[in-house]
Amino acid sequence: MQTRTYIFILLLLLSGCNHQIHQQQFYVFGTLVGISIWGVSEQKASEAINTIAKDFQTMHHNWHAWQESPLTDLNQAIAAGQVWTAPSLLPLLKKSKHFYNQSDGLFNPAIGQLINVWGFHSDDLSSDFIPPSPEKITELVALAPSMDDIHIEGDQISSTNRGVQLDFGAFAKGYAVDLAIEKLRQLGVQNAIINAGGNLKAIGKKGDKPWLIGIRHPNGTEVLAAVAVSGEESVISSGNYERFREYEGVRYSHIIDPSNGKPAQGLSSVTVIARSGALADAASTALTVAGLQDWHRIARQMGVKYVMLVDEKGIVYVNPAMAKRVQFPADKKPQIIVSQPL
Ligand code: AMP
Ligand code: MG
Repeated sequence: MQTRTYIFILLLLLSGCNHQIHQQQFYVFGTLVGISIWGVSEQKASEAINTIAKDFQTMHHNWHAWQESPLTDLNQAIAAGQVWTAPSLLPLLKKSKHFYNQSDGLFNPAIGQLINVWGFHSDDLSSDFIPPSPEKITELVALAPSMDDIHIEGDQISSTNRGVQLDFGAFAKGYAVDLAIEKLRQLGVQNAIINAGGNLKAIGKKGDKPWLIGIRHPNGTEVLAAVAVSGEESVISSGNYERFREYEGVRYSHIIDPSNGKPAQGLSSVTVIARSGALADAASTALTVAGLQDWHRIARQMGVKYVMLVDEKGIVYVNPAMAKRVQFPADKKPQIIVSQPL
């Protein structure tokens, strides 16, 4: 049943010219995860990477929104109006409530039913899909699922709204890289980068240079920009280029606007840099929903300092602090609009 409980080691790359960089990739969270570690022995790096791979597999199982998991058990209990305990989900629930309120509800992991009817509770997004009817969307929006409906007392979880169905897809990978970096530090690794399908966190440096990170172009193939990070920072992008549904030539993004129940429109990608991966991930999703109208206000409310947005025409919007950090290829510089400071 659980076909993904194994870890699929795809590639082990040891750099020929620099013996201090160790890189490994594996498949988890429905995506390719890459880890690079600098400055420790090969054995230590390999042990650390195996530990993280196992941790990620556990998180993937615990947080899975549509295969049987502690989360699907909790969702069933909520639908049945029962009180439930799920210790592995408490940190996610607490963080979700916080980001929900900071984002004026644009980041809303309680909208699992909407995410499901738009066909995103599936591993195969190319399978047959028909958009939900306007009536169905209206019905689910009217249930007004909110993180404020969730109540936590000790380890007891309950919901005052049976329409709540939790889906942590918008920030689980960002939080996972936070936990993984913490674990790497405990294991004595000071310089590393973890990339969970474009959700990336780095610590330290690559030798005497900062880690250089490529931000993907929303067209899916090219690199849009590069940014250097050192110290401890997460670079996280949300976009409609990776997970989307198509019906009769129309593309539907996997990011849903909780206010109208429809896929968010207007922005092709949003990148946020912050120390916390969970915050950067929650914010990148919330700002995609906020759109060009509201992103600045929501970013301020969430305490985010570096934002880059790309609209559907390819125009890039950045706050001044972000503008100082991102580098675009000289021959492919997009039109860039710099906002007021955050
Ligand atoms: P991300 O790629 O981080 O933007 O996360 C997108 C995923 O978050 C989707 O595949 C859904 O599972 C979930 N999601 C979609 N819309 C929202 C929303 N408004 N708030 C919270 N989670 C969402
Ligand atoms: Mg996100």
